[in-house]
Amino acid sequence: MATVNLTLRPFFEVRQVLYYNNRKRATGVEVVDAETNKTYQYTADVIFLNASTFNSTWLLMNSATDVWEGGLGSASEELGHNAMDHNFRVGAEGSVEGFDDKYYFDRCPAGFYIPRFRNVDGEERPYLRGFGYQGSASREGWNREIAELNIGKDLKNALSTPGSWRIGMTAFGEMLPDHANRIALATSLTDKWGLPVLSISVELSENEKKMRSAAPSRCCRRSAWSM
Ligand SMILES: Cc1cc2nc3c(=O)[nH]c(=O)nc-3n(C[C@H](O)[C@H](O)[C@H](O)COP(=O)(O)OP(=O)(O)OC[C@H]3O[C@@H](n4cnc5c(N)ncnc54)[C@H](O)[C@@H]3O)c2cc1C
Repeated sequence: MATVNLTLRPFFEVRQVLYYNNRKRATGVEVVDAETNKTYQYTADVIFLNASTFNSTWLLMNSATDVWEGGLGSASEELGHNAMDHNFRVGAEGSVEGFDDKYYFDRCPAGFYIPRFRNVDGEERPYLRGFGYQGSASREGWNREIAELNIGKDLKNALSTPGSWRIGMTAFGEMLPDHANRIALATSLTDKWGLPVLSISVELSENEKKMRSAAPSRCCRRSAWSM
């Protein structure tokens, strides 16, 4: 910014990439000032779309629609397809006995990560790809249930000390690209500027479901969960 070659426009929303069909080139962007509703155009030799995966796709779908009905880049027939997410919300948790004299202070506590260990080094599972685990341990706090103490000094004293340790971990699995999983411009729902919002149609495939059922049983047999 010190060179005056960069200006940040925090309340500007890009509406479309400008496309000059005669030269077959993207030439700039059209933006709307969200505070004043005024529209501007900026031109550039090179344009980077960094509006995140979904919104960059939304922008392409809203651009050059006079040339391609599905928007800029839609000639590939893949624009908006192969949407992927974490294959997660499956894991395990449990209580840990002991370590009652240990706490977090001065110990720089951090979570743990177990990298993917399935379908590597020649191993073959009944699903493709794999999953890693993210987890952490902590002591139960004041809001833990203490059934035998319901009110008064004893309850206050009990809640002033940390509870027992608990540990949990969540699997983060990979999702395969699937042409049927897609985002598209909604046909009937628009935003405040009358532009179509995104509709999302994504489902887990059999591969992801098989991976999910493997993740908690590998993780811990005591208290596995899946949502
Ligand atoms: C809950 C959560 C936890 C995560 N944890 C991790 C993690 O632990 N480790 C990790 O590596 N990744 C993590 N991620 C993923 C990571 O945050 C994203 O992959 C990364 O931020 C994507 O960067 P991006 O620049 O593509 O998009 P973004 O960071 O989403 O930036 C896009 C920007 O474009 C702006 N924008 C959108 N549309 C327009 C428009 N039309 N005009 C102008 N501006 C627009 C948005 O306001 C936004 O500021 C997490 C994500 C989430 C949601």
